[in-house]
Amino acid sequence: MKNVNFKQELVNISPLSFKGVFGELEYLDGNLKLLRSVIDGSFSHIIITDIDGHILYANKSSEEITGFSKEEMIGKTPALWGKQMPNAFYENFWNTIKRDKKDFIGNIVNQRKNGELYEAEIKVSPMLDNNGNITFIVALEKDITKEAKIDREKTEFIALAAHELRTPLTTISLTAEMLYRGIVGDISKENKKYLKTIHDEVKGMALMIEKFLDFSQVEMGKFHISNEPAKLFDILEKSVSDIQTQIKIKKIIIEKSYKKNLPILNTDKKVVQMIIENLLLNAIKYSPNNNLISITVEEGENNLYIRIKDNGIGIPEKDQSKIFTKMFRAENVFKIKSEGSGLGLYFVKNLVEQLGFTISFISKENIGTTFLITIPNNIYSSGF
Ligand code: ADP
Repeated sequence: MKNVNFKQELVNISPLSFKGVFGELEYLDGNLKLLRSVIDGSFSHIIITDIDGHILYANKSSEEITGFSKEEMIGKTPALWGKQMPNAFYENFWNTIKRDKKDFIGNIVNQRKNGELYEAEIKVSPMLDNNGNITFIVALEKDITKEAKIDREKTEFIALAAHELRTPLTTISLTAEMLYRGIVGDISKENKKYLKTIHDEVKGMALMIEKFLDFSQVEMGKFHISNEPAKLFDILEKSVSDIQTQIKIKKIIIEKSYKKNLPILNTDKKVVQMIIENLLLNAIKYSPNNNLISITVEEGENNLYIRIKDNGIGIPEKDQSKIFTKMFRAENVFKIKSEGSGLGLYFVKNLVEQLGFTISFISKENIGTTFLITIPNNIYSSGF
């Protein structure tokens, strides 16, 4: 009886199932074709590589953007149109993808087959199997040469405006100070109060203008890096003392895990200090009151490592890949109503790269964040 039923079932079900399966396959095949034509027709350059970067697939836009044909690309690595960035960039790139198994998002300069340089925004993602091993790497690249040019012109305009505003602001500030001090005649107590307000506000504006100037210079790659070697110990001490107000307001405890005889950095001490202060100010801003922030320095075989660790709000995982991009702020900062522009880390990254350092971080939401600056041994020499 059972057998009859089974046979009967087969007779009843088989034709339908086969039709179903073939239908599915046709549907899947159709979908794959559709997907392929979408990828091929995309304005973005898309390539798929193996784990060592050998190109397995390249879409039409990648031919148009790089100038190389698919045949020329397959089996080669993107170095075919790359190799224009400093070594530290590629080191950080591969560390993010292969070691951290995270997406790399950033801007890059590449070279077309005809020798022309172009700027691109890239997102490179490792594809992981069920065991967490990388199987393929998918790279998306968008040619932003035109946008970057407009952006540069905007920055140049900001630099020019900031530069032009600097002189009159200094004059206003000095004049207000002269009047306040009674250098050009007696002044009533009431008027002194107003003059002080003018003076303080103008001073604040002048500082802001200086910041704009610094930022625009960094952005244009014109930020002057001078050679002002200094002891790392002194730089760290000065950074901490410069931000005492913020430390006091939030009653932060700074734990210094470093010795006095730290190496001498053979680079621009002002810039290193800007980097450290930016990271410390963020650590303070994104930590609750009474929290501990630690600064640790370790000397490895080939590198010097500076870590700035906080136990603050952390950076949500989904936002981590965008944290060094211009004007980006993670979702959770809006809950704590913190002020910010999203420019600090963008400039920190830029400065770090100009010095030949690298920067990375690990973070967990509501647990904390640790930023790591790596300084290669050709940039420092032993302490004393
Ligand atoms: P801003 O602090 O002005 O928003 P930044 O460029 O300095 O801009 O930082 C970008 C974003 O990175 C911040 O908005 C915040 O989301 C995140 N971030 C940076 N540092 C920390 C930190 N120590 N802890 C938590 N989030 C941080």
